Amino acid sequence: MSSPDFNIFRTVAEMRSYVKRRRVNRSDHTFGLVPTMGALHEGHLALTRSAAKENGEVIVSIYVNPTQFGVNEDLSSYPRTFDSDLAKLHGLRQELRQSPERHGDITTVFAPTSKEMYPTLPPTSEPDGHGSFVSVTPMAHHLEGASRPVFFRGVATVCMKLFNIVAADRAYFGQKDGQQAALIKRMVRDFHVDTEIKVLPTIREPDGLALSSRNVYLGTRRRNAALLLPRMLQRAAKKYTDEDVHDVESIIDGTPIPKQLLDVSNPRVQYWFDYISLNDLDTMENISQVDKTKGAMLSAAMIIKPVDDPQPGEDLGESEGRFRNVRLIDNFILPPKS
Ligand code: AMP
Repeated sequence: MSSPDFNIFRTVAEMRSYVKRRRVNRSDHTFGLVPTMGALHEGHLALTRSAAKENGEVIVSIYVNPTQFGVNEDLSSYPRTFDSDLAKLHGLRQELRQSPERHGDITTVFAPTSKEMYPTLPPTSEPDGHGSFVSVTPMAHHLEGASRPVFFRGVATVCMKLFNIVAADRAYFGQKDGQQAALIKRMVRDFHVDTEIKVLPTIREPDGLALSSRNVYLGTRRRNAALLLPRMLQRAAKKYTDEDVHDVESIIDGTPIPKQLLDVSNPRVQYWFDYISLNDLDTMENISQVDKTKGAMLSAAMIIKPVDDPQPGEDLGESEGRFRNVRLIDNFILPPKS
């Protein structure tokens, strides 16, 4: 789908010269960037809406970044829905235009090719592969990084590229990926990147499941099992808020994968937790005790296996992802108590 009143830039040169030109013509404008991998959902749109509230212009990038996928991860099956992504952004644009509040405009989608983003060497997913990378350690080794060695190297690298190309005043990230948001903040600070990082709350389905592009892999039965993740975390967060407990064992204890949340009619969904962890909000270091003055992040990663006994007519999810293990992450912030 092409759109006459929407810029869709595929090259770095086009994107860069557009912003430079606009900065001269509209010196009163600030620019907000929303980096995404597409398959847009309400979480992405919420970031875009906030960007439009706070800036004269919004640029949404859509790029499935190969270097953040490990060699055995789901790069090839990751959902790519460019036309419906554009349609959603158009819908949001109309909504904002009709809103009585003043908003900036969503003018541009930056959807580069990998040759543009990685101009000199093909992007590698090998931990010791060659290329120019940004690494933010030790933060990149904690939590998600422990089992996904190239993930944060890829994320930091692609975000640094996007920040250099777009030179936005502000960039918008979701708390859904709490470690990613902390790492990007750290990178921007350490490299003196002149873009302010804004982190916005996680958008959830009415039953609590955090929106994620990967949820389409799940199908009905696995989606049902996936609810354990937010419910367990929410229960633990409530325990922290309601009771005088601050150490990780007490917060999680009594919350262990509550049996009553299991759907006993579908016992054959197999899952496990990679981690359930309490971490410092700035450094992402594992902590055993919440510092009452700072609060902490309580997070978990859940892996759900494909159903091994599909029933006739059963909704098993979309794409090749339905045949793979699905990794879901979520977190709740435990606020300071004093
Ligand atoms: P992704 O396309 O998954 O790389 O996500 C792009 C941005 O959207 C990241 O900053 C994510 O943290 C954010 N995001 C993804 N899901 C949600 C959600 N459910 N609520 C808020 N932000 C989200």
